Amino acid sequence: MNALKPSVVCIGAGPAGLTAAYHLSKAGAPVTVLERDPVNVGGISRTETYKGFRFDIGGHRFFSKSREIEALWNEILGDQFIDRPRKSRIFYRRKLLDYPLKAFDALMKLGIVESILCMASYGKARLSPVRDPRSFQDWVTNQFGARLFGIFFKTYTEKVWGMKCSEISADWAAQRIKGLSLGSAVMNALLPKKRKAGGDVIKSLIDSFRYPRLGPGQMWEAAAAHVEARGGHVKRGMDVSGLNFDAASKRWTVTSRAADGTENTVQGDHVISTAAIGDLVDYLSPKPPAEVVKAAKALRYRDFLTVALVVKDRGRFDDNWIYIHEPGVKVGSIQNFKSWSPDLVPDPTLNCYGLEYFCFEGDETWAASDADLVALAKSELVHLGLAEADEVVDGHVIRQPKAYPVYDDSYQANVETFRRWVEAERPGLHMVGRNGMHKYNNQDHAMMTALLAAENILAGHAKWNVWEVNADAEYHEAGEDRSLALGSERLVPSRVGAD
Ligand SMILES: Cc1cc2nc3c(=O)[nH]c(=O)nc-3n(C[C@H](O)[C@H](O)[C@H](O)COP(=O)(O)OP(=O)(O)OC[C@H]3O[C@@H](n4cnc5c(N)ncnc54)[C@H](O)[C@@H]3O)c2cc1C
Repeated sequence: MNALKPSVVCIGAGPAGLTAAYHLSKAGAPVTVLERDPVNVGGISRTETYKGFRFDIGGHRFFSKSREIEALWNEILGDQFIDRPRKSRIFYRRKLLDYPLKAFDALMKLGIVESILCMASYGKARLSPVRDPRSFQDWVTNQFGARLFGIFFKTYTEKVWGMKCSEISADWAAQRIKGLSLGSAVMNALLPKKRKAGGDVIKSLIDSFRYPRLGPGQMWEAAAAHVEARGGHVKRGMDVSGLNFDAASKRWTVTSRAADGTENTVQGDHVISTAAIGDLVDYLSPKPPAEVVKAAKALRYRDFLTVALVVKDRGRFDDNWIYIHEPGVKVGSIQNFKSWSPDLVPDPTLNCYGLEYFCFEGDETWAASDADLVALAKSELVHLGLAEADEVVDGHVIRQPKAYPVYDDSYQANVETFRRWVEAERPGLHMVGRNGMHKYNNQDHAMMTALLAAENILAGHAKWNVWEVNADAEYHEAGEDRSLALGSERLVPSRVGAD
């Protein structure tokens, strides 16, 4: 390590924290990463292990429009990537419908009576649409008819977001389902596809994706090993609880607590935080002004839990995951981990399904005991006809708090208030990544923000604006336009009436 390089403490060993540490340690800067998880690195992109079964939080595809991020993944993981075919369908009334929807497939599987009813309700919506559609429900009903809205949009959307479709703003539908109508969906399904320039690339991204052989955690374990090989530190089981700034020396003292209660401190010239903004504000001393604390504490999250069920493998579906549109069950989607990588499953006669439940920390689902959640998942899997009761041999629950930053009508102003204060008063504190910036992003976006922050630190000034790595940017060749090289931040619904 080079004593002349600035020393850096990273809060969190997720993709963002480890990318920053990887880059800084490569440049010879002394770096310490503090991670509260006692076992795993990788954050939401970690791989959990239960009795030799490996599974991740959601299933993580590795795909980026940024060549720089793709190259970095290759550099970290070497030859451990596998190419996987992508298959994900919609489960509805015991049938698996192709996704993206194909008119003929949907017609066959919904049956002639349901299809006629869908067409009639579509006709009705075209003849007498909801005037001035304000909600997601109004918008989609106008576009597809009430019946198709009920089958393909209502149940899943409400499970994921915990809001009624009548409460979600129409803007979200308009952005997300841009240019799609029933007419165009039918035409697309019936007419031969036109070849577009670059079409092969896009097609290949839809049909297949890259995945580390042992799950996404393998990438982040490898990144942590590289950091340590270069003399950096990645300390697990260290929950950061204090962040003291000394104005005279302009240095930071970071306090973290281990599970046994012992406190540790580490000092640095800079801190890169991937912790949720609402948590970060609690660690700071001296405290920010009251309005800054209030803004940070107002940020909200949607939480998530996976019940991993070990089942006798009867090959009932080979999708990577399926969306559950069936009414009457709480499960939102089901991962088939053997389809992500056969190496995630230690016994070829068994498989592991991840039944995913979207919830709010502390609600009835979140607070249920692990035994009750395993029983619920098992009964729902059997109810859906995706396993017989005696095929389910074991189960394990993983809860993921703060899985999704919520975009409500005040979040932008709240993030802005906190960010402005940090930039003005604590320039050595860098907020990056998903909850670190309150951005509903993919790994590549989190990583790019971390890379730019690390480069700012090495340059000694704010060379890049990490907040400009944005959602809708088109891909540009690298050069100086790197911050535009991403388009992976996802769209999130807001409430009716929100800006
Ligand atoms: C269901 C789901 C599916 C997804 N699928 C994909 C996908 O297919 N492809 C893709 O690219 N992305 C996917 N993502 C997004 C991806 O998981 C995130 O973009 C990425 O993990 C963000 O990285 P991060 O480092 O910013 O944050 P995180 O992954 O949240 O990591 C933050 C880390 O900081 C630690 N931490 C927080 N506070 C403290 C503290 N006080 N002290 C110590 N440690 C702390 C946490 O324990 C965690 O390890 C998915 C996300 C979800 C929820």
